[in-house]
Amino acid sequence: MQTADNMTMLEKIAEHMMFGIYFDLSRYVIAAGVMAIFLFVFKRWADNRRIQERRASGKDYRRELLSSTRTVFFFAVTTISTLMLREAGIIKFKLDEFSTLTLVIQVAAMILVHDAYFYWLHRAMHHPRLFRATHLHHHKSRTPTPWTAYSFSMWEAILEVAFVPLFLLATSLMGIAYAGMAILFFIWIQLARNVMQHAGVELHPAGWVDSKWTDWISTTTHHDMHHSTGTYNFGFYFTFWDRLMGTEHPDYKKRFREVAKPIVITRSFAERFSISVLAILAVGSSIGQFASGVAA
Ligand SMILES: [Zn+2]
Ligand SMILES: [Zn+2]
Repeated sequence: MQTADNMTMLEKIAEHMMFGIYFDLSRYVIAAGVMAIFLFVFKRWADNRRIQERRASGKDYRRELLSSTRTVFFFAVTTISTLMLREAGIIKFKLDEFSTLTLVIQVAAMILVHDAYFYWLHRAMHHPRLFRATHLHHHKSRTPTPWTAYSFSMWEAILEVAFVPLFLLATSLMGIAYAGMAILFFIWIQLARNVMQHAGVELHPAGWVDSKWTDWISTTTHHDMHHSTGTYNFGFYFTFWDRLMGTEHPDYKKRFREVAKPIVITRSFAERFSISVLAILAVGSSIGQFASGVAA
């Protein structure tokens, strides 16, 4: 009887783990894959807005893909642990319907707290005593690619992903049960921004750093310069922590203006745009069909 119970428990863990790996792997492949397709289809535009002269090598891509598999494993373990902590009543979040306003406020709060968490964790990982064991691996990508987004050492993967259960533990202790949908939105926004920051090509429109409405939001050049210099620009979504702490690269805006050339809409641009949208839709729908097949 005991053995049967253990088997059921093991089977349950294995089933949860499969779901976690599927959930975390598919969103990484979708986000980085969509970006890679976009950069491939708009090659000429992308080459014109490339931030570094240096190109990532085949070795870089292999390392990034291999270490991302490890990251997905630790993300999956965390997803499962978070769900188990919820079952145990330690972490609270609700799957009910929430108003749009509540969702917006909850997602915005989560992003603001994550921005601070990321900045300070990142600064700590750059400390000479911690750098080798935690963050050196991510910096092996001197010229980032969309696949750098998950290229972490084991310790960095654990520290990065720990934010979600820690945040939910804190809100649960404050008596707030977060909306499951807000957590899902947050996960997608942070992944999309992560992939954008590592695109290697400036994706934000010209003039971004010269408008007070957008300058507080980080750009691809901002994080790319972190990879090329290793000493500036530690922020993630926003520029305010770097500005407050005096860690923004003095040439950031100058470099951005050089790289972010205005978009010229030509016939070939419009054609390429429609091809990329169709390619993305085709990939999205086949993944969707595969997902429904797996669910069934
Ligand atoms: Zn760093
Ligand atoms: Zn990075």
